[in-house]
Amino acid sequence: AKAEGRARVEIFDQSLHVDARRRLTLESELRNALKKKEFVLHYQPIISLGSRAMTGFEALVRWQKSDGQIIPPSDFIPLAEETGLIVFIGSWVLEQSLKTLARWQQEFPRAEPLSMSVNVSPRQFHQTEFVEQVINAVTASGVPPQTLRLEITESVTIQNAQHAVGILQRLREFGVRVSIDDFGTGYSSLSYLHQLPFDTLKIDRSFVSALQSRSDGGQIVQTILDLAKNLNLDVVAEGTESEDHVKILHQMGCGYAQGYFFSRPLNETAVVEMLSAKDTA
Ligand code: C2E
Ligand code: CA
Ligand code: CA
Ligand code: CA
Repeated sequence: AKAEGRARVEIFDQSLHVDARRRLTLESELRNALKKKEFVLHYQPIISLGSRAMTGFEALVRWQKSDGQIIPPSDFIPLAEETGLIVFIGSWVLEQSLKTLARWQQEFPRAEPLSMSVNVSPRQFHQTEFVEQVINAVTASGVPPQTLRLEITESVTIQNAQHAVGILQRLREFGVRVSIDDFGTGYSSLSYLHQLPFDTLKIDRSFVSALQSRSDGGQIVQTILDLAKNLNLDVVAEGTESEDHVKILHQMGCGYAQGYFFSRPLNETAVVEMLSAKDTA
């Protein structure tokens, strides 16, 4: 493997040399991390703006190295996607977050059970066994399928719209919900949107941050909210960082929000503490 690494490095010119080496190192470290199960999940609450109640969480992966250092997903997900390692990371995330959700639903029962939103990468989504994997993981965990929300980006569905529609329909038949993530960034797929069986639209945080700016980012958010209403989609605003954001979004008719104003992503212990506190309040 070492010789192979050297050979591959030599293909690149000197300016890319360091970068290529770093990537090779990172790739082998990632493989090791998978073997040693060095990944952890943090969970960010999603809040209903009407009741201010927490409805569920988004699972966000982190790489916790043996020395305790925590690596954010932006530093390893792109390479994991490129190398295909994301498929293994993704199935771990799915199984782990569902097991955790099952425990929380049992410990903190509600009329409307807590939900879990899980990010699905393009590579993972287009894998042949993906739907089967989701069904197996949900069944094994025992959570109601309706409480799992898979988050995918628009680009995933653009690459091969017919294939994507098929997968989404099978997931929904089983009962799982599907969210369109980072809406408004990347490709604009307005023409496809009505063909794709989504339940929820997540407004990218760049539009939420622009809410208070003078360039009137509010227009874009209002347009997205109108569109979502026409398509009968729930809306979650991402990156909600202030009371002002919350007020404006609620006034505009946005149903749900997520962001540092309510809570940063929390580890499992912190979530359980929060849920326990809410229960006795
Ligand atoms: P995302 O799916 O858009 O997740 C939301 C990101 O915004 C998270 O970053 C979260 O910590 C951050 N965030 C939440 N509220 C706020 C806020 O009020 N202000 C600001 N500035 N940021 C906020 P994180 O955890 O670093 O994740 C980054 C991205 O990595 C995610 O973006 C997602 O695309 C990817 N990712 C995370 N976990 C997974 C995973 O398990 N699988 C896959 N395929 N991708 C993942
Ligand atoms: Ca997401
Ligand atoms: Ca997002
Ligand atoms: Ca994002």
